[in-house]
Amino acid sequence: MQKENLWQSVLAQIQLEISDASFNTWFKNTKISEIERGRVTISVPNTFVRDWLSNKYHKKILKGLRNIDPGIKEVGYTINSSSNSSSVKTRNSESKKENEKAVDNQMEFQELSIDHNTGLNPKYTFDNFVVGPFNELAHAAGFAVGKNPGSLYNPLFIYSKTGLGKTHLLQAVGNKVKKEIKGKRVFYIQAQKFISEIISSIRNNKMEEFKYRYKDVDILIIDDIQFLSGKEKTQEEFFHTFNELYEKNKQIILSSDRPPKSISSLTDRLRSRFEGGMIADIDYPDTETRAAILKTKAQEKDLTLSDDVCYYIAENIQRSIRELEGVLNKLIIQQQTKDTVINLNEAKKVLKNINQTSSTSFSFNKILKTVANFYEINEKDIMSSSRKKEVVKSRQILIYLLREELNYSYPYIGKKVGGKDHTTIIHSFSKIKKEIQKNEEIKEELSYIKESLMSV
Ligand code: ADP
Ligand code: MG
Repeated sequence: MQKENLWQSVLAQIQLEISDASFNTWFKNTKISEIERGRVTISVPNTFVRDWLSNKYHKKILKGLRNIDPGIKEVGYTINSSSNSSSVKTRNSESKKENEKAVDNQMEFQELSIDHNTGLNPKYTFDNFVVGPFNELAHAAGFAVGKNPGSLYNPLFIYSKTGLGKTHLLQAVGNKVKKEIKGKRVFYIQAQKFISEIISSIRNNKMEEFKYRYKDVDILIIDDIQFLSGKEKTQEEFFHTFNELYEKNKQIILSSDRPPKSISSLTDRLRSRFEGGMIADIDYPDTETRAAILKTKAQEKDLTLSDDVCYYIAENIQRSIRELEGVLNKLIIQQQTKDTVINLNEAKKVLKNINQTSSTSFSFNKILKTVANFYEINEKDIMSSSRKKEVVKSRQILIYLLREELNYSYPYIGKKVGGKDHTTIIHSFSKIKKEIQKNEEIKEELSYIKESLMSV
């Protein structure tokens, strides 16, 4: 059998077994480059794909090959370097300003392309959603719901910190249903908008109209549901909408920045509804996956990034995917302005600029200040080794927030709060984490501190 046909048959088998998104991410632009004495060499576009295939899909690939040709004993991977540098775009005459404008326009265009019947933005699909260990479960659940809405996990509840892909995933499910299942009515809405609609409907005596609008929806997607916290009347209306849809086996998909049990001031009946289906979280991506995301996004945007540049950025921007995209946009402007391929030095310069202006360097100070203000304790005392009860408590809250908000490692927090041992830090963090479960007061204090952090 010819190399091409052999690989096509293997791909056809694999495609049946994994999601479209994974398939597109990891198997696009692969081929068999050589078959020699029972050893098959597969050529792949870059090192990330190579590592991913050999770690995660090796068995599937070998099995697929052997199903067709039992004589195959071994599989190896090689990087096809020619596919890398073919898409450099050069734009000699454009100035930096024009380039920035072009990037802005492109974004604006994407915002404008939101479908007003469904609230969906077509740019969010499964095809451009990169899957890794950090979001595997959420992705699998979303994908399954997209295939069979209303029958598997209801509601589907996705939670993560900001910028890690909730909106993208929720919208991808909606877009998949819209495209693949004719006649299903999908409706996506941000919780803030949902709340303001309810409030204005109540005020204008238009509740019947409001209810009517949601009556025939088959898939209701509400993003950032944590904003319902403390809004009793809205929660009540939402509870009715929820039940009505749920009883008719309509699919409900929700996202939040925290799990249902941590959303404060949520009525018990809503909380138990939220917990009644499938809950999946999205974590921070690891360095490998961050590099893979960068590579994918760069390719989408016709930016050539070498592997070492990708790794460098992935290692140095350990924050959300949204921030990774921000870096990428800066690199695009840089490339277009200077009309050169971005090398490691250029990338370092761009990152240095970003880090100087980024908020993280003062976020530590900001959190420290906010905590100190709130508990009316001197910053110096918090950093000291004082065992006074109020000081210890504010120190523990600071540690908790550094971990939760900035994702600092335990040893690093130890270093930042006046040279403490990492076991002390772990102890403090878990103590507060436990307290939050049973102590309303601490919970309220924390949410107050968080609010003031955001508002400064
Ligand atoms: P959230 O809603 O959790 O704050 P978003 O869904 O808005 O995060 O994601 C932020 C940005 O990162 C978006 O531009 C989104 O397309 C991108 N993004 C997030 N997760 C992924 C992923 N797994 N693959 C590709 N892009 C992603
Ligand atoms: Mg979002």
